Amino acid sequence: IKRKHSGSDLTIFSEMSALALKYNAVNLSQGFPDYDIDDRLKKLLCEGTEKNFNQYAPMAGLPILVENLSEFNLKRKISVSKENITVSPGASYAIYTALAAILGPGDEVIVLEPCYDSYVPSIEVNGGIPVYVKLKDNFEIDFDALKQAISLKTKAIIVNSPHNPSGKVWRKEDWDQLANLISNTDIILISDEVYDLLTYGERRFYSAFQHPVLKEKCFSIFSFGKMFHITGWKVGYVLASEELSRAYRRVHQYLSFSVNAPAQYAIAKYLEIFDAEENSKFMQQKRDFFIESFKELPFTFTEKAEAGYFQIMSYGNISEKPEKEFAVWLTEQAKVATIPISAFYHEPSDSGKIRFCFAKREETILKAVEHLKEFL
Ligand code: PMP
Ligand code: GLN
Repeated sequence: IKRKHSGSDLTIFSEMSALALKYNAVNLSQGFPDYDIDDRLKKLLCEGTEKNFNQYAPMAGLPILVENLSEFNLKRKISVSKENITVSPGASYAIYTALAAILGPGDEVIVLEPCYDSYVPSIEVNGGIPVYVKLKDNFEIDFDALKQAISLKTKAIIVNSPHNPSGKVWRKEDWDQLANLISNTDIILISDEVYDLLTYGERRFYSAFQHPVLKEKCFSIFSFGKMFHITGWKVGYVLASEELSRAYRRVHQYLSFSVNAPAQYAIAKYLEIFDAEENSKFMQQKRDFFIESFKELPFTFTEKAEAGYFQIMSYGNISEKPEKEFAVWLTEQAKVATIPISAFYHEPSDSGKIRFCFAKREETILKAVEHLKEFL
């Protein structure tokens, strides 16, 4: 069968998690929590099925979830009506579906590298051509390079704030600059905002769908996987203008059609009691615990992650191996699995950096430190 995309046959996340399992290594690679989820969420999932939310939900989302999402977003000054919200089976699906809804053969889509590994395959499977622009060394946006990359064939730009793998959060001025670049074009913005609720620094989350200009031109994509630490539930949602939502649903109704109904019920009810501030404090403590525990090790970093699940670290003091080789070696020998940053680039790249997931129990982090101390 002819290949439809230039991505790997097995994602780096599956590969490193499998390697961790094989070598009995502490898995700080793929981004998923190993701590328990809120008991109330578990109960609500049971309640969903007991209350008979067991058949197809409406295509755009369970009404109670759509309603609670507009209230939740209004509280953080993102104004949405039900025409703007479509519930999706996760964020990767939503990115794929948004691309499927808008791309024609040969359309160009700009991605900012390093970027999440699903973007490029999703562009290519839908007949688009990825155009690559590198973020600066500090993961800020290079607007000159972005401007240069825009052509008459540019159909969309995919952006990601808070950013995976760096945790960088865009400022309002970044969004303004992007709006200036595309305001007089038909370019559509696909804005991956899955780490919206997990910010730790001064830069607060700002959504593309909050921006007066970008609001009309974007798909803002969210995931409850990261919001509520339930990556296995695979539920998220998309905010878009009425026109873009219609285009999205035109495709969505023939892909998954609708999304797991008891999970939608549970998430809707959980939104009513959820404390976003406490949630981000909980994760910030995890980040700080990770950084504190790694202090005695020879890894270095330039900036603490401002958001998300991950901390990038340099290993120049330890080895000159290329990133992938180093990550495999560390898994096999030191029994700690991580993700090489090169996996977020389409061309071979190597800056001696790996990504650690800190969404883990303290004992897991301490075990990783113990292994590393023994070995390094
Ligand atoms: N985008 C980014 C930046 C991610 O890190 C992830 C993984 N959580 C996704 C999208 C995919 O999210 P989901 O599991 O909801 O498909
Ligand atoms: N988002 C997760 C990460 O960056 C991975 C999800 C996946 O395995 N595709 O680690």
